[in-house]
Amino acid sequence: MQVTVLGAGTMGHGIAQVSAMAGHDVTLRDIEPEIVDEGVDSIRSNLEGGVERGKVTEAEMDSALGNITGETDLPTAIGGADLVAEAVPEDLGLKTTVLTDAEDVASEETILATNTSSLSVTELASGLERPGNLIGLHFFNPVHIMSLVEVIVGERTDESTRAFATEFVEAIDKTPVVVRDVPGFASSRLGVALGVEAIRMVEEGVAAPRDIDNAMELGYNHPIGPLELTDVVGLDVRLDILEYLRTELGERFTPPQLLKRKVRAGKLGKKSGEGFYVWEDGEAVATSGEWSDR
Ligand code: NAD
Repeated sequence: MQVTVLGAGTMGHGIAQVSAMAGHDVTLRDIEPEIVDEGVDSIRSNLEGGVERGKVTEAEMDSALGNITGETDLPTAIGGADLVAEAVPEDLGLKTTVLTDAEDVASEETILATNTSSLSVTELASGLERPGNLIGLHFFNPVHIMSLVEVIVGERTDESTRAFATEFVEAIDKTPVVVRDVPGFASSRLGVALGVEAIRMVEEGVAAPRDIDNAMELGYNHPIGPLELTDVVGLDVRLDILEYLRTELGERFTPPQLLKRKVRAGKLGKKSGEGFYVWEDGEAVATSGEWSDR
């Protein structure tokens, strides 16, 4: 199968890598040759890491790299593609343009996929001549490690497109979950619901962040607690998602004042060095603020 990935950033290079590892011919397209090269370099370094850890053989690495071609010209990148997966930045206008331009040079049978994490697939399809060919394929970061892919079925997505997409996901050794095109899909909605309740519990003085996270890690076998995960994702990112889900799904997603205060103070989590925890060298080393003795 010929797979074209649009956008060679964090998600795009990952999607290209897992597709190439499954034996597909992959074209990775970005707007500048240097960005394409960086994407291919990231794939090479992921695969080399896999070889070092014994997860990938040298032959599998060479074969995957041999399946990938970098490209900047859109018609060349898309010619003959069975699947075009876009992973350009989360901007409705940009994604609409990218998908429309892709459809213009694709064949009538080409399936289009969007890796959007929050935008409506139905809305993205509204500018297309063949809206039935568009589906959401929501990969998780890092793509080569995370096994989940949400398959987002828009209001006008054809049944044959859904079937193609779930088969594709299984063939690249990932697990698809099929979700209707609703705000937050399944994963963001549930993940954010848990995170927001944990923040309210800190606000109400129910328990210290470390104890709340331990409750979920040790009692429910979550690999990471909801507050530490909020720090990893970014408090600002979570706040944006909450604001959006509140407008779409109602008051239960109202952002807590504590979250707003921390974002205003620049305490954005791991990336800024402090959120619900204090971070040093990529590790949460202490609890932030009033719970710092815990
Ligand atoms: P990124 O900024 O790392 O990469 C985006 C790439 O798209 C950049 O390299 C940029 O040069 C390129 N680009 C811009 N315009 C283009 C065009 N017209 N054609 C081709 N390439 C173009 O972004 P990302 O983190 O990879 O996110 C991409 C998408 O994946 C977004 O919709 C995001 O919401 C979604 N997503 C991200 C994550 C994550 O953890 N980063 C997780 C799930 C989904």
